[in-house]
This record gives sequence, structure tokens and C-alpha cells, in this order.
Amino acid sequence: METKNNNVYDIAVIGAGPAGSVFVFELAKARPELKILLIDGQSKESAKPCGGLLAPDAQKLLARFDLVLPKSVLEDPQIFAVETIDIDQKFVRYYQRYYLNMDRYAFDSWLLSLIPKNVDVIGARCKEIKKDGELYRISVKNADGEITFSSSAIVGADGGGSIVRRTFFEPMKVQYVAIQEWYENRGQRLPYYSCIFDAKTSDSCSWTIHKGNYVVFGGAFRREGCREAFAEQKSRLEAFLGNSFGEVKKTEACLVSSPRRMRDFKTGEGSVFLLGEAAGFISPSSFEGLSSAMYSGKLLADAFAKGAPHEKVQKLYRKETRSLRLKLRIKSVKRAILCNPFTRKIIMKSGIQSISPYTKNK
Ligand SMILES: Cc1cc2nc3c(=O)[nH]c(=O)nc-3n(C[C@H](O)[C@H](O)[C@H](O)COP(=O)(O)OP(=O)(O)OC[C@H]3O[C@@H](n4cnc5c(N)ncnc54)[C@H](O)[C@@H]3O)c2cc1C
Repeated sequence: METKNNNVYDIAVIGAGPAGSVFVFELAKARPELKILLIDGQSKESAKPCGGLLAPDAQKLLARFDLVLPKSVLEDPQIFAVETIDIDQKFVRYYQRYYLNMDRYAFDSWLLSLIPKNVDVIGARCKEIKKDGELYRISVKNADGEITFSSSAIVGADGGGSIVRRTFFEPMKVQYVAIQEWYENRGQRLPYYSCIFDAKTSDSCSWTIHKGNYVVFGGAFRREGCREAFAEQKSRLEAFLGNSFGEVKKTEACLVSSPRRMRDFKTGEGSVFLLGEAAGFISPSSFEGLSSAMYSGKLLADAFAKGAPHEKVQKLYRKETRSLRLKLRIKSVKRAILCNPFTRKIIMKSGIQSISPYTKNK
């Protein structure tokens, strides 16, 4: 499908997070003749709120792409364990982890830098997408004003708050508001990396992570009263740790999806495709989503690489993501077990797979 008009593309991708970037660089390599537009609204100031931990599955994927991480993407310190805290039940357990601690914005920028020059990349926010005959009209806005593009296919790689998903499909049923605060690291005794449960303020989990000169405390909260729940959990955690986070240097928030049912995963229809968190590909138990985002990007690129009509690409992509969907569905069972105070207590008390002596009433 060759196009001549400058503002008309074969594929327009909304979102240059890990899903969009991997999709674009893999497809641009396989089908250099395609006219691809990548639209992204992220800047250092509006960077994606994230823990920035690269899990083993994501590391394996990068290895499969024959990619190695530049040192500039890594963040200080590197961690070996997660301190799991149940505030309500006053339990603490340590479990070994094999994550890489990264600067998330640096990671996204690095992936974006791998995209070949024949792709048009535009820094702008997509405001509206409308079907217009055989094409889709995409209105975007940036400092230069409003621009409209047309494209034969739309790829929504625009994360948890996806405009593409909202416009064309059923939204994700369960979405939390993820809130993170950044504090100066003054050497106060705060866990390097922790996973926090507090049934009183959230039915999900929270975390602390050290990032260079900062300590981040974040968590996922039900939409209604999320700010109050965050504030209450923070003070309960400070009381539990016997330490204060200190002055807030930065606050960030975004929606984060928590897929619970098979139909929460939506891969697309017709000429509209969804990737990464927009498709629901994120772990509902840990919110680990970088591996699923990159993996789905690769699978859709492979499906497009075959050069088939969009309907066939949809079918192939849906088929290839089946094991990913199943894996994430199973994680929602794990979530139900971990986020239930009773079953969590049994697991933590048993000490199974932990690397520390059982500590009570810390
Ligand atoms: C607080 C928090 C902590 C997390 N911590 C971790 C972690 O430590 N490890 C891990 O593996 N996962 C983590 N996750 C999950 C992970 O961040 C996501 O699953 C992953 O980023 C999804 O990648 P994506 O490419 O699908 O979407 P995103 O990374 O969300 O990228 C979407 C991109 O689209 C752009 N965009 C969105 N809307 C528009 C628009 N209208 N116009 C133009 N551009 C747009 C955004 O600017 C962004 O660049 C965390 C999530 C949250 C919320």
C-alpha cells in the first residue's frame, strides 16, 4: 500500500512507550517501504510515572532483540531483594528479586533512539481520532498548534489512559490511580525496594524504591478518594517504619490497568490495533508491564511483517498473544491471593521462598 500525500500514512502509532517503540523499530526493519507515523506526547516533565524496574522477562526480551542496556539508563542503587510489608498485620518478609533499577524516562528515550530515520516521529498529543471513509483522521496538538494526519491503520500504544481504546473499544473495567511522590534521599532508613500491603487504605499494593538522590513512594488506589487513601497510607507507613519521608519534591499520577477477565484484553478490530497496557497487557499482581508491552509490540510487528490485509494481521496477532493473555489472567488469580489479607498472612507466615528470618511487630 503506497501513499503519496505527506500527511497520509500506512500506519499511525499513538504512543512511544516500550510497546510503541518496539513495534515501530521492528516493523520499520521488516517493512521499510511502509510509511509510519509515531506520535508521542511524553516529555521529561510529563514522564510516565513508573517504578522503572526491569524484570527478568523484560531482560530476556531485550536479549532476544540482541540489545544491551547503556549504563546511562541505569539508576543507583541496584537491588537484590524486595522487603514485603503488611502494615495492618505487622509482618515483614524479604524475597530475592532480579530486577534492574532504571531511570524510566531514560529507558523510553533510549528505545526511541533506536527507531530508524525513515519513520516520522512527532512530539504531540493526540486529541481525537475519527474514521473518515477508508482512512482515520488523527488530530494532534503541540506547541506549533494543531495538525491533522490520515492513516490506513491506527495502533494504540498509548498506555493505561489510551485514547485509542476509549474511542473504539470497551474501556478496561478495573483501573486504579497510581500516585507516586518523590523525596530527597537524606540517608533516612527507608526500604531500598519494598512492596507494601495495607488493607485499610487499598486493595492493591504500593512500593518504595530508591532512585539516585531520591526515594519514591507510590501505590495504586481506587479512583474514589485516591488522594486521601494515599495520604493515609503514607502516614501509616511512616508510623510503621518509625521514619518520615520528608519534603515532597515531585508528585505524579496516572491510571494503571488491572486486567481481571479474559475480555479485559483487547487486541483490536478492523484496522485499529492495541498494544501494551492499552490492550490490557500488564500484570494485575505486580503491575509489571514493560515485558508485556515490548512483547506485544514485537508480536504485532511480526504479524504486519507478513504483508497481509488488516483482518489477517488482527487474526494472527490475536492468536500469537494467546499465551500472554493466559499468563496475565493467571496473574489475576495470584493477585487475588496476595491482596487478600487472610491468604497473604498464611503465605508470609510460612516464610516460603523468603530470605529473611520471620520478623513480627517491627
Ligand atoms: C506507577 C507505576 C509504576 C510501574 N512500575 C513498573 C515497573 O517498575 N516495572 C514494570 O515492568 N512496569 C511497571 N509499570 C507498568 C508499566 O509502566 C507499563 O505497563 C508500561 O509502561 C506500558 O508500556 P506501554 O508502552 O504500553 O505504555 P506507556 O509506557 O504508558 O507509554 C504510552 C506512551 O503513549 C504516550 N501517550 C499517551 N497518550 C497519548 C496521546 N493522547 N497522545 C500522544 N501520546 C500519548 C505517553 O506519553 C507514553 O509515552 C508501572 C506502572 C505504573 C503506573
